[in-house]
Amino acid sequence: MAFDLNGLVRDNIKALVPYSSARGEYDGDAQIFLDANENAFGSPLGGQYNRYPDPLQSKLKSLISAHNNIAPNKIFIGNGSDEVIDLLIRVFCRPGEDNIMICPPTYGMYEVAANINDVAILRVNLTDEFELDTGAICETINDNTKIIFICSPNNPTGNSMSRESIIKITKSFNGIVVVDEAYIHYSDERSFIDALENCPNLLIMQTFSKAWGLAGLRVGFACANEQIIELLNKVKPPYNINQVSQSLVTKALQNKLSVEKTVEKTLAERKKLEHAFVKFSFVAEVYRSDANFLLTKVKDAKDLYLFLIKNGIVVRDRSNVMLCDECLRITVRTPKENQALLRAFEIYEKSIIY
Ligand SMILES: *Cc1c(COP(=O)(O)O)cnc(C)c1O
Repeated sequence: MAFDLNGLVRDNIKALVPYSSARGEYDGDAQIFLDANENAFGSPLGGQYNRYPDPLQSKLKSLISAHNNIAPNKIFIGNGSDEVIDLLIRVFCRPGEDNIMICPPTYGMYEVAANINDVAILRVNLTDEFELDTGAICETINDNTKIIFICSPNNPTGNSMSRESIIKITKSFNGIVVVDEAYIHYSDERSFIDALENCPNLLIMQTFSKAWGLAGLRVGFACANEQIIELLNKVKPPYNINQVSQSLVTKALQNKLSVEKTVEKTLAERKKLEHAFVKFSFVAEVYRSDANFLLTKVKDAKDLYLFLIKNGIVVRDRSNVMLCDECLRITVRTPKENQALLRAFEIYEKSIIY
């Protein structure tokens, strides 16, 4: 059976007449805009903040397009990737009827967004090696499965999923496969964006929140075939990306070099931490990471977590998450902060009694 996008979309979304904003209806170059009830006398901040922002973020999209070698009409920009996750579920999943699939342990927002929308969740855990269980995934999906969320590199495990597995799942599934590449810039693996050509049901998410260092601006994007992008545009809030974020991300994209440098630094620090961690007797395993964090198995995660808190250092306790027994997720930071962490580890090592 071939991929049939139209059959996948909720009927109410197909029938939806989207909100038509003033800025969306007119795209000529008039001089005087009296169409949006904006304040004529400007704002207390000066600038152009009295004007509504571009609803389709064309300038930002043209830069993202150039950076990622993908046509602008195959790009959707969201208020963080988190908005993309929610919109996808609302476009495709009928509340109380349809389901999504996730592969735990993975990013928590897929589950939360599904729960908010009253959409059921199918789960196929990763294997003990944190790989996709391709066979079980294909056996578990059913006629009501609309989206499979795959996170690669995965949060919280840090590893990239096998490219062959993702392609195989995408080819054998008639719903949407989402590959969340929030951490792709820290990985040697190449993005799945270049696989879009041959996979009409694939959607890639990336974000400016991690390697780009712009988490505070709330900007993420999705790449997919233009029919999927049109559906997201239909459902999104008209002005979902505010003017400040559009301008600042546009500016940031002109300074890619500085981002590449910080990625290099992070990778060097990750390597240093990895080597340092394994020398401590309370560290059982440091998992291979393609991201800016290290999932680290220790003797007693809760105990170490509390010790670090007492020393003013907060890490993420993942020990209650499946396959992550006694694991902490530790973000790689600056040399100074990482040194402070290692000093705390040394004090902890001396304090434990076996
Ligand atoms: C941090 C993160 C994101 C980013 O979400 P934003 O809403 O863009 O900040 C997306 N996916 C994963 C797996 C993440 O860890």
